[in-house]
Amino acid sequence: MESYADLVARRREAILARMDEALARAGRSRGDVTLIAVSKTVGIEEVCAAIAAGYRVFGENRPQELVRKLGGLAALPDVPAVRFDMIGNLQTNKVNAVLGRAALIHSIGSEHLAQAVSARAERRIGAGELDGPARVLLEVNVSGEASKSGFSPEEVRACMPRLMELSGIHIEGLMTMAPRGDKDAARRTFCGLRELRDELEEREGAELPELSCGMSEDFEIACEEGSTIVRLGRVVFDPSFALQ
Ligand SMILES: *Cc1c(COP(=O)(O)O)cnc(C)c1O
Repeated sequence: MESYADLVARRREAILARMDEALARAGRSRGDVTLIAVSKTVGIEEVCAAIAAGYRVFGENRPQELVRKLGGLAALPDVPAVRFDMIGNLQTNKVNAVLGRAALIHSIGSEHLAQAVSARAERRIGAGELDGPARVLLEVNVSGEASKSGFSPEEVRACMPRLMELSGIHIEGLMTMAPRGDKDAARRTFCGLRELRDELEEREGAELPELSCGMSEDFEIACEEGSTIVRLGRVVFDPSFALQ
């Protein structure tokens, strides 16, 4: 029987082949997109299988779990350097746990949170504990679903000048989640994110190179629509998730 490590490695090749095809359809290439393995449902052992398969960037949606996984990996011998990103809902009282640990925070979904992250980062920079501003993305609820968190497009347009003044954060782009199970809606959402980014760059003079979008069910559409970071969980780690 195929081992879990072999399955993860075989999956990775299949995922990269799918990404290559989707990127080629849009005149893009593999170097344009960072593939994040979302490890929130698996343990250290599965993360190690993913590292052995070639993944170097991981995503977690809970601060405690991000801290736990980083600690677990640090305790193991001969683990290559990997990066963890914070992709989930972040509460202000957990910001300090992720600062200096998460390479990129994808989920800044309100002005209040942006201010909190910036203030804490400034303090840590002042204390010599942090090299520079926290790298962040703004999470935008492009599809308008009531269940989704993040800025509305109108809010992000209104706040952007103030957000760009916050010296403890460096805004590198936008992040979104598409509605589940509807390919057309996913495409509209990703396209909408890109257009919003273009508009903010034009109007505010911001530089927002990163578009974090695309998950297990819709990453090929995201690659066609300009995603620069796809966040894949089940298709990477769950043997029962069929890569169709
Ligand atoms: C869980 C999660 C993912 C990965 O979802 P899959 O459908 O398993 O690929 C991506 N982004 C965020 C924010 C998540 O919470």
